[in-house]
Amino acid sequence: MKELVSQADWKDYLSPVWPHFSDIMADRGMGAALIDQNGDRYLDFTSGIGVTNTGHCHPRVVKAIQNQAEKLLHGQATIFYHKPMQDLVTELRQVVPSSLNSFFFSNSGSEAVESAIKLARHATGRTNLICFQGGYHGRTVGAMSVTTAKRIYRLHYQPLMPGVIVAPFPSSEEETERCLEALEQLLFTQTAPAETAAMIVEPVLGEGGYMVPSATFLQGLRSICDQHGILLILDEVQSGFGRTGTFFAFEHFRILPDILIMAKGMASGLPLSGIASSRERMEKWIQGSHGGTYGGNPLACAAAAETIRVIHDEHLVERSAKAGRQLVHLLQAVTRTHPSLVEVRGLGLMVGCEFRDGNGKPDGKKASEIRRRCLEKGLLLLTCGTHDHVIRWIPPLVVTEQELHHAVSLFAESVAETGD
Ligand code: PMP
Repeated sequence: MKELVSQADWKDYLSPVWPHFSDIMADRGMGAALIDQNGDRYLDFTSGIGVTNTGHCHPRVVKAIQNQAEKLLHGQATIFYHKPMQDLVTELRQVVPSSLNSFFFSNSGSEAVESAIKLARHATGRTNLICFQGGYHGRTVGAMSVTTAKRIYRLHYQPLMPGVIVAPFPSSEEETERCLEALEQLLFTQTAPAETAAMIVEPVLGEGGYMVPSATFLQGLRSICDQHGILLILDEVQSGFGRTGTFFAFEHFRILPDILIMAKGMASGLPLSGIASSRERMEKWIQGSHGGTYGGNPLACAAAAETIRVIHDEHLVERSAKAGRQLVHLLQAVTRTHPSLVEVRGLGLMVGCEFRDGNGKPDGKKASEIRRRCLEKGLLLLTCGTHDHVIRWIPPLVVTEQELHHAVSLFAESVAETGD
């Protein structure tokens, strides 16, 4: 017999493995606004963890999905080709470096990370991977094994994938040289270049605390990889699609990846991810050795192709750069009156506010309390960082100046209330 689930207790049927940051029952969204079932309005500065870069329900993206939905919902990539994938490849060719001229599509960031790892192993014939302290690459076993942003992501999931070596990531410009030396040392003592398939790194640390490395660090990784025939995998799942004020974050650092990982902002909310690499490298990936039922779904591809056109037509990359500078400027004014907010940092609209206590220790309690107070005032924010001590600002790239000012004023009030 069908069990009746009342309105009140349906949430009890969800696995508690999902933490819930709010009780909002969302009804609809537009731009940076989220409206719940009671008609209450929130400013969504989480973008669903950096996904809705074009804003909630951008009319052009919605239209593209509606048009496609009437024609074809599913199109398994190995059975036939479809036009939305053709359109997406055409659009990606405009924004991805021309040397990365071969694409593979999947559904989530983690899946794309798995693809990159598998491709790197086939293409090099080597097994080991170097990842970086504080990096986040996802929840599937391979992606989790190269994730060190927080212990909880790995807790009780041993044994993880073997052959992973963790290298230090610089927390300041001064640490660059030491980190590069440590990496050379790891290649000498723990994983010989001949065993090392790839290094995987986020150009800007996301879940690990919105840390921007120096160009020297990323250029150093590029040159060590070149020297030893190791592939450089850049995970731009969070930093791509205009988020940092360039289309991809690597453009800030004047380096190119061997394998680029994309997801989140790619399809404005529909599940889509992908990797890009050279045709030559992709040809070393044994045909049939990787794939999936849904990767490159027509609806998601149509949404992604239109997302890229919208980013271009509405100059969202430039808007991200400009709005990011404004946001940092506004937040810096808050640091002057509140010593626990020790740093505001970021690139474009990927901005982090770090909190520390009187002894200089990361203050996750304070950051969470501020997040909670902001929520009460109608502003949705997330935290990140090893101790959840960084409040991150990732509004849609279409955010207005007025919304930025309003959000920062709610944040400043919340910081003040916590008695700094
Ligand atoms: N890589 C990075 C840099 C991410 O930020 C994330 C998600 N936060 C992932 C990979 C995993 O993506 P997904 O949650 O879609 O699997």
